[in-house]
Amino acid sequence: MQGMMDALVKREDGKGLDLVKVPVPEPGIGEVLIKIHKTAICGTDVHIYNWDPWSRQHIRPPMTIGHEYVGEIAALGPGVHDYRVGQIVSGEGHIVCGHCRNCRAGNGHWCKFTKGVGVDRDGAFAEYLRIPETNVIAISKDISEDIISFFDAYGNAAHTATMFDVVGEDVLITGAGPIGMMAAGICKQNGARRIIITDVNDYRLAIAKKMGASQTVNLKHENLEDAMKNQGMVEGFDVGLEMSGNGAALNQLLKSMRNGGKVALLGIAGPGTVIDWNDVIFKGLTLQGIYGRKMYETWYKIIAMIEAGLDLNPIITHRFHYTEFEQGFAAMNSGESGKVILNWA
Ligand SMILES: [Zn+2]
Ligand SMILES: [Zn+2]
Repeated sequence: MQGMMDALVKREDGKGLDLVKVPVPEPGIGEVLIKIHKTAICGTDVHIYNWDPWSRQHIRPPMTIGHEYVGEIAALGPGVHDYRVGQIVSGEGHIVCGHCRNCRAGNGHWCKFTKGVGVDRDGAFAEYLRIPETNVIAISKDISEDIISFFDAYGNAAHTATMFDVVGEDVLITGAGPIGMMAAGICKQNGARRIIITDVNDYRLAIAKKMGASQTVNLKHENLEDAMKNQGMVEGFDVGLEMSGNGAALNQLLKSMRNGGKVALLGIAGPGTVIDWNDVIFKGLTLQGIYGRKMYETWYKIIAMIEAGLDLNPIITHRFHYTEFEQGFAAMNSGESGKVILNWA
């Protein structure tokens, strides 16, 4: 007989989440059951918690949310031979079709039929999670579980920050949320020369500085041109990473690029965002949209970068038990936070 477990569920149309009992899922053919140790709260979860227009359109309650997690394998469904019970794992949050053109070309992150864990199907804010074995990522016990809990978000940061060569390059990051903070650390470790990051939040910029930014710019009372001059920059940024989703930030980034510069766009642009296309055309800019992480090359890289010494601890600012989830979401909504971790042990 199936047992019951605690889960954070979006039960109905409206703000907030409920901590309720739901059945423990049973792993089917080719699936793995994971006992969750820790989860991290993503900006997406905050959108769903706040029940903003995007979530009202995309989320079908009732559903358990959450997609950033670490746990251990609790059970294997029929036909799973590559994993064993007790292994420490996280998982890719996009469950892809496996047979479309992009999937078969090894570009699963572009699958048109992708289903998101904690977005389109039950997620990880629960005592147990069931996912296909293809999505399981085994991770060494030597890496701290606090850090593994947000590998999904770290993967977004890494996919963006490694899209273009940053060795010896001057990098502009717009947006110092947890993803921007991590991107600063990744660019630093990967050999960027100057890393300037912009935001309007001093708390977050201070963490980005700790992660390796050469200079931070609070656009409320500082300007980017002064920072560039101060850093001795002449021609503009070689690589731009847009991580804010803010139209003004995107335009400033395009204006600040060197001719021939390369731009990776992760921040989700608001409806009706307008850019000056002549910045792109006359400067010969390359623009690359980023979605998710490469499946599974980015996972390989993010584990390797941690093993090579990248320290993500500065971005963890809050830890709560899952029963205190309201405090976790309040911390995220306050803006005075980096990564917020919920403990499920
Ligand atoms: Zn996320
Ligand atoms: Zn596909």
